[in-house]
Amino acid sequence: MNFDLTKEQEALRQRVRDFAEQVVKPVARENDEQQHFDVELTLKMGKNGLLGMVVPKEYGGQGLDNLSYIIAVEELARVDGSTAATIAAGNSLGIGPILQYGTEQQKQRYLPRLCKDRIWGFGLTEEDAGSDSRGTKTTAQYDGTLWHLNGSKIFITNSATPITLGTTVQAISDEKDGKPVFTALLVENKKEGFTQTPMDDKMMWRASNTGKLVFNDVRLGDDCILGEPGEGSHMMLASLDSGRLSIAAMGLGCAQGAYEMALAYSKKRVQFGKPVCKFQAVAFKLADMAVKIEAARNLLYHACWLKDQHRPFGKEAAMAKLYCSEVAAEVCDNAVQVMGGHGLLKEFDMERFYRDQRILQIGEGTSEILRLVISRAIGC
Ligand SMILES: Cc1cc2nc3c(=O)[nH]c(=O)nc-3n(C[C@H](O)[C@H](O)[C@H](O)COP(=O)(O)OP(=O)(O)OC[C@H]3O[C@@H](n4cnc5c(N)ncnc54)[C@H](O)[C@@H]3O)c2cc1C
Repeated sequence: MNFDLTKEQEALRQRVRDFAEQVVKPVARENDEQQHFDVELTLKMGKNGLLGMVVPKEYGGQGLDNLSYIIAVEELARVDGSTAATIAAGNSLGIGPILQYGTEQQKQRYLPRLCKDRIWGFGLTEEDAGSDSRGTKTTAQYDGTLWHLNGSKIFITNSATPITLGTTVQAISDEKDGKPVFTALLVENKKEGFTQTPMDDKMMWRASNTGKLVFNDVRLGDDCILGEPGEGSHMMLASLDSGRLSIAAMGLGCAQGAYEMALAYSKKRVQFGKPVCKFQAVAFKLADMAVKIEAARNLLYHACWLKDQHRPFGKEAAMAKLYCSEVAAEVCDNAVQVMGGHGLLKEFDMERFYRDQRILQIGEGTSEILRLVISRAIGC
């Protein structure tokens, strides 16, 4: 077994780390406070090759492997959850379905822009369809020439910004044996009857855009269908397998950032005449953090490796997402404890990490749903 990253992967990690430290970190706290989706920062990330990372160069992407992409998300999350979310959702959920299932014409139309200066949403969740995506109520009815889209979506990342080009939307297009048949449609933001409204006042990822979408008789041609009509649910759920790798990367990066902050603080903070890291109760907390982060990284990188080998990776992606998000929760909680009262002040970024980790156990499959997925995969 070879655990070494390639030279290119190491170089990419360093490049993204430098970008995160020098460009993201200085604006992260204020963007969070102001709930500001930072267009300028997103465009800079596009220029630095962070959009379209695994997209082949012929469509304007970087042509990288999945592990490289995951390392980039990890490095951004080590500094800021919102920024990592914009990039992870942009690459995995926005670009992913178009790259995987789009026609040549759809790829040519959207990918070059999505690799550069625009983003795309992934519209699965609705008011009554969260974990149970088959509860979708949005409909797409065909009149023989056009599709008529009606309904709404909530919680859609990257869907309501000035640089959003559109969203992939799951809708009921038919019925078979009394059960709904789902189709995925590519819906551009400028379409008549389509409105996008930011959902503000979130506890976490306050600088990441989350949109509510409403479709009021939005008319779409056949060229807006992704894959085949009736294949929507399969494509949307398969896209989540990849998305889970990037949520896991956010958990890993968040845990790494929180651990580094707590470790540095514990070496400087003196009580009872010595740095607090010299108290065994504190040192053992830090040791446990280091162990769990290492285990999380191995689980995640292995799942990415499977994907890069074109092997099945759904079970491992679910395991990585579940474990990394739960490690992030535990590490952030203990990191606040190590930093005492200062860990609760906005002036110390730990407070933001503590909030940002919370979504990771909910988005793209709650921990309960992931345990369900894993238990089925192991034959329960
Ligand atoms: C900031 C943010 C960004 C998001 N981005 C997107 C996006 O880009 N695109 C998108 O489509 N969605 C997005 N979502 C939605 C997200 O994927 C859902 O919130 C998530 O799938 C859970 O759905 P829910 O919130 O409706 O919870 P529910 O499904 O209502 O679950 C409530 C509780 O019941 C539990 N539960 C439900 N069913 C079961 C079961 N069968 N067994 C055991 N327990 C169960 C859940 O685990 C949870 O604890 C986002 C959400 C947030 C908060």
